[in-house]
Amino acid sequence: MNDNAAFPHLLAPLDLGFTTLANRTLMGSMHTGLEEEKGGFDKLAAFYEARAKGGVGLIVTGGISPNTRGRLAPFGCELSKFWQVSKHQKVTEAVHKYPTKICLQLLHAGRYSYHPFSVSASKVKSPINPFTPKAMSVRQIKGTIKDFAHSAKLAKRAGYDGVEIMGSEGYLINQFSCVKVNKRTDEWGGCIENRMRLAIETIRAVRASAGDDFIIIFRLSMLDLVEGGNSWQDVVTMAKGVEAAGATLINTGIGWHEARVPTISTSVPRAAFTWITERMKKEVSVPLVTTNRINTPEVAEDILSTGQADMVSMARPFLADENFVAKAAANKSDEINTCIGCNQACLDHVFKQQRASCLVNPTACYETELTFEKAKSNKKIAVVGAGPAGLAFSVYAAQRGHQVEIFDRGAEIGGQFNYAKQIPGKEEFFETLRYFNKQISLLNIGLNLNQEKSADELIAAGFDEIVLATGIVPRKLDIKGIEHEKVMSYLQVLRDKEPVGKRVAIIGAGGIGFDVAEFLVEDESLTTNPEKWLQNWGVDKDYQKNGGLIQPKMQEEPIREIFLLQRKNTKVGAGLGKTTGWIHRATLQKNGVQMLAGVSYDEVNDDGLVITIDDKQQTLPVDHVIICAGQESERTLYQQLEDKGVAAHLIGGANVASELDAKRAIRQAAELAAKI
Ligand code: FAD
Ligand code: NAP
Ligand code: SF4
Repeated sequence: MNDNAAFPHLLAPLDLGFTTLANRTLMGSMHTGLEEEKGGFDKLAAFYEARAKGGVGLIVTGGISPNTRGRLAPFGCELSKFWQVSKHQKVTEAVHKYPTKICLQLLHAGRYSYHPFSVSASKVKSPINPFTPKAMSVRQIKGTIKDFAHSAKLAKRAGYDGVEIMGSEGYLINQFSCVKVNKRTDEWGGCIENRMRLAIETIRAVRASAGDDFIIIFRLSMLDLVEGGNSWQDVVTMAKGVEAAGATLINTGIGWHEARVPTISTSVPRAAFTWITERMKKEVSVPLVTTNRINTPEVAEDILSTGQADMVSMARPFLADENFVAKAAANKSDEINTCIGCNQACLDHVFKQQRASCLVNPTACYETELTFEKAKSNKKIAVVGAGPAGLAFSVYAAQRGHQVEIFDRGAEIGGQFNYAKQIPGKEEFFETLRYFNKQISLLNIGLNLNQEKSADELIAAGFDEIVLATGIVPRKLDIKGIEHEKVMSYLQVLRDKEPVGKRVAIIGAGGIGFDVAEFLVEDESLTTNPEKWLQNWGVDKDYQKNGGLIQPKMQEEPIREIFLLQRKNTKVGAGLGKTTGWIHRATLQKNGVQMLAGVSYDEVNDDGLVITIDDKQQTLPVDHVIICAGQESERTLYQQLEDKGVAAHLIGGANVASELDAKRAIRQAAELAAKI
């Protein structure tokens, strides 16, 4: 144990025999996109160095393939040639300026490889990849094991303290270990001892090539969450085999990428899957790492102090705040910029082949490009609007030494985040507001709530710069009967808490339309009650069937009858987040929400909402019609200032309302603060 009063278990060192980790935090593997960028390894080194400086115990890099066929994408990163070593040295040297250790993740994607040369245990196509893999010959399997071993040797040359062998999330080794993909009848298929042979032989080969003083983490799929996944007994057999083969640590993997159970999105309750690692603790003695939706030092400490695991893996929380560990160690966890699990700037980017970053921390992966040096002259700056844009600007500008004064007509900071945080499954947005409130007081930013300054007052106050982050106003629609008492805006629902009837039509199926639908139908206790949440998504803690799935427990009677409508003919929800849209759609489907596309709105009257689809008119007999039809910029003050010849900076929704989200608002604010 460490003598830190608040987090003694989290900050306790872990003795691995030949080496000691400074604490129990593992920064989980994240592909950033820098791996493939020209000159990306210099940026990657700065990215990892910042996390090492911030006190992480052990870093695992993004997945690097041991050979060409195993690459995730045609130009994906691999470590198989000696000339590739030097760029990795930049990373290890940067990290080793601090007591942090770093392991390279070796990932062979198997049938998840997004190219025509993919291979797997058998010729079984994945539902999330258009390419069908070739079944590997025995020669190819043995060659692949050698490639892992060779890569590990090169990793050691490059200065890595070890490797993580990726055996979960449905990648090659996981494909071999489960009958879902492994249909082989030779010694690499059939019983679990044969199916896990690739994992075991790979660990042995890596140990033999890299030596005893080398960390080998094996990421074991403890809960596949797919039909044809492993039974608990199979998983235990595999864990024991992995331990005997010489792994130093076993990390927990939850769910294949194609699983239809959310595993890391914000609506997953915190630490919802640590029970599986706890269960494994009874079976093996090698130290175990637990993972998934652990985002505060308090949650991590609780897991470790109750003996559920020996280490805690957090990935995205280190994108959100590189100083997570240092702040915990200084008993300042209330200063941590908490990962809200939105996936908007990290996973959604990676899946679109863009560089990862973080919605709440736009400097992540931009450490050398978006910086906040002390300003040459300290300015007096007025910021109007305390939504995400105004708040982010204020904090970054104050860090540079500017004197910032915020004005908001609302009674609390946060702007639209105050509505977002009420949506079931979006409670993490509270953390962002807690973070900003704390920074406002630490940086002595003037905060003036319930205040709407006129243009004249702002001018008279003699500010050097005026930044307008006044956000948006909901779009008003021109439909017959729009003044009918049935019609409400989403603000009347979320802000004013006006009562809503049992039958509802929602006009507009963007992010807010979906959120309002979830607000009206979803059981809000789900995200705070992990047991109920697991049952709702069909995850079986008793592991009665292979893969750990059971029939989801459906709500007997939906709370409301809801119609979610859009004019476009595209699939409803197509514009939602790449990695989270399916979760929102599935949640509404479970609650019986009817999603209709290609709608034209004819009239609101006493009978309900009259619409036309495919030239057929019908009346939806609803009590309320809620308008979620997008937004327009709020620029009244900007116009008034301009009329008086004063130029102001516009950021966030006040600048561009279309397709606005907090990611764009915060990044734009940070970029202005970096140069003002
Ligand atoms: P706003 O948040 O609108 O803030 C503007 C502020 O300016 C307000 O506090 C207002 O009171 C103040 N103001 C305006 N005029 C004046 C004036 N004259 N004087 C003083 N103060 C003034 N985005 C995401 O990225 N991910 C999500 O999951 C997400 N979920 C959402 C869920 C809901 C229900 C809603 C409503 C929005 C959601 N958003 C989400 C959108 C996100 O909240 C906005 O993009 C973001 O808040 C825009 O930030 P902003 O600072 O530009 O404006
Ligand atoms: P939005 O995503 O742009 O959606 C607006 C919806 O209104 C669309 O479905 C649009 O579809 C419809 N619409 C637009 N003009 C209309 C008109 N004149 N008449 C009738 N319908 C109209 O905007 P939003 O839902 O207001 O969300 C605002 C921003 O917040 C979004 O950019 C979003 O990224 C962000 N947000 C994100 C999340 C998230 O989970 N990531 C959640 C909430 C909000 P049709 O034109 O087809 O009818
Ligand atoms: Fe977390 Fe969202 Fe940042 Fe990703 S973008 S690290 S999920 S806060």
